[in-house]
Amino acid sequence: MRSGSGPVPTPALAPGLYLIATPIGNLADITLRALDHLSKADVVACEDTRVTRRLLSAHGLRARLTAYHEHNAERARPRLIERMKCGEAVALVADAGTPLISDPGYKLVEETAAAGLPVTAVPGPSAALAALLVSGLPSDRFLFAGFLPGKAAARRQALAELAPVPATLIFFESTRRLAATLADMSATLGPRPAAVARELTKLHEETRRGTLDVLAAHYQAAGPPRGEAVIVIGPPAEKTAAVDGDDLDARLRTALTTNSLRDAVAAVAAVTGLPRQRVYARALELQKAHTDSDA
Ligand code: SAM
Repeated sequence: MRSGSGPVPTPALAPGLYLIATPIGNLADITLRALDHLSKADVVACEDTRVTRRLLSAHGLRARLTAYHEHNAERARPRLIERMKCGEAVALVADAGTPLISDPGYKLVEETAAAGLPVTAVPGPSAALAALLVSGLPSDRFLFAGFLPGKAAARRQALAELAPVPATLIFFESTRRLAATLADMSATLGPRPAAVARELTKLHEETRRGTLDVLAAHYQAAGPPRGEAVIVIGPPAEKTAAVDGDDLDARLRTALTTNSLRDAVAAVAAVTGLPRQRVYARALELQKAHTDSDA
């Protein structure tokens, strides 16, 4: 039996890769196990050594750091795997939140596992999950879609593909593009219930809930807010045959203002539950009427 005071020594980490979640704002959001493993890892691979050093020093820890980010990953990966093969414990962290989730690490995990080395998750903060929790939207089934493509056409195409998915959708977005993205979402997905969760766990945390069109109008009028944000969108309404002709026309006209014919039809069919052929036929009629009236 151990006598005397002082911390109980805990065993060194077994060789392998440890994926460690870190705070997304509030420095206190870090698990005891994360702190333990960060202090014991032979090396901590991180996106930005300055950011991780600040986190460690806030908790009175020191660790050997090495950079692992999208610009050096190809070169750094074999070296990290070699270290694990030689018996070292490698920790991987992102600047904030859970590594691999719109952050580097997927290939390192793939190759570590392929080399027959152990991979261990040390879970914790995740902006996507925190946003889902506060959104007030269904949490039983969700799809995390990360960042949408930057180019407008690719963005709308991605949204049209997601439109029929019967699940809550979660997106990361820069606050600078919030208004434009919400407007695209509203045009493609219709007036679905949604939430923008901003500055989660931080001093100015805010969750704004409303339909996509209302949220888009708010950020358009208010201008880009500060900080970081996640957009959460409720699933499509239950499919219903009770969409009347006027409703269909209104939805198509809105969708056609910012989408190609194909994307508009896909989005409206998904939201209304109407057969795609019927929506397509009506979209063609509306387009023709519009062209004829311009002639
Ligand atoms: N891997 C991280 C995670 O698991 O939380 C996410 C990293 S991703 C590069 C950064 C994006 O996450 C931001 O653009 C924003 O959409 C979201 N994000 C990160 N921290 C946030 C916070 N405190 N509040 C709201 N959104 C946040």
